[in-house]
Amino acid sequence: VQNLFGELGINDRLQWKEHSMIFAMPSKPGEFSRFDFPDVLPAPLNGIWAILRNNEMLTWPEKIKFAIGLLPAMVGGQAYVEAQDGLSVEEWMRKQGVPDRVTDEVFIAMSKALNFINPDELSMQCILIALNRFLQEKHGSKMAFLDGNPPERLCMPIVEHIRSLGGEVRLNSRIRKIELEDDGTVKNFLLTDGTTIEGDAYVFATPVDILKLLLPDSWKEIPYFKRLEKLVGVPVINVHIW
Ligand SMILES: Cc1cc2nc3c(=O)[nH]c(=O)nc-3n(C[C@H](O)[C@H](O)[C@H](O)COP(=O)(O)OP(=O)(O)OC[C@H]3O[C@@H](n4cnc5c(N)ncnc54)[C@H](O)[C@@H]3O)c2cc1C
Repeated sequence: VQNLFGELGINDRLQWKEHSMIFAMPSKPGEFSRFDFPDVLPAPLNGIWAILRNNEMLTWPEKIKFAIGLLPAMVGGQAYVEAQDGLSVEEWMRKQGVPDRVTDEVFIAMSKALNFINPDELSMQCILIALNRFLQEKHGSKMAFLDGNPPERLCMPIVEHIRSLGGEVRLNSRIRKIELEDDGTVKNFLLTDGTTIEGDAYVFATPVDILKLLLPDSWKEIPYFKRLEKLVGVPVINVHIW
């Protein structure tokens, strides 16, 4: 995403926040607990420092058990991370001997922030990818807010960039069907208004549930597309206030 901002020349629209993770504490309504990442330390020392300094959310025995549980992820690298996809966050924590309180205090919030679902549903792979990033990159968990509403401040520069290169952006153009040639390649996209779109190449970037609905029958047995069966969207409603 940052590469996109750089390419569009709109990096100045990102309002960077101080490098902290701030958790609301369910047991103390209205109170917040902070993990402050000091700027002077490189990764992963800044994260370790942030965790060691926070004594409100996790006790020392919990921190130690969590750190021991995480060791295989630190030494096992990407192969280990990918192999954890079959386990939910909750299952993984229990397998690694991490107390349930760590899951409740830290990973309910983290699971919801990453995927809007709970630790008993989310794949541990997602958490490990995020944690690895935090451990490897000094600013991996730093947040920025956009300086206004996304349609104006982000989408319009994308549209202008596409137009400046001779492209066209059409809104309200819903695809009804992917029409195929006899050899199974795409012939065109049929829109709900009855018109068709033809191209040299086709990119279909709707949410996964819509792709599954519109996937041509003859593609459903192709191994690449068969893997879609296990993917389901998470229903989320968002409200933008500005
Ligand atoms: C509440 C919320 C907060 C989030 N916050 C953040 C955040 O802070 N930072 C961050 O990095 N990410 C955030 N995300 C995640 C991020 O928004 C998504 O990962 C990203 O928008 C996905 O982009 P996409 O292009 O794959 O899909 P989408 O943005 O979902 O785009 C899919 C498009 O397909 C279109 N479409 C659907 N059906 C058809 C059809 N039949 N024909 C043609 N077009 C169709 C839709 O209208 C839509 O425009 C958040 C997500 C949510 C829901």
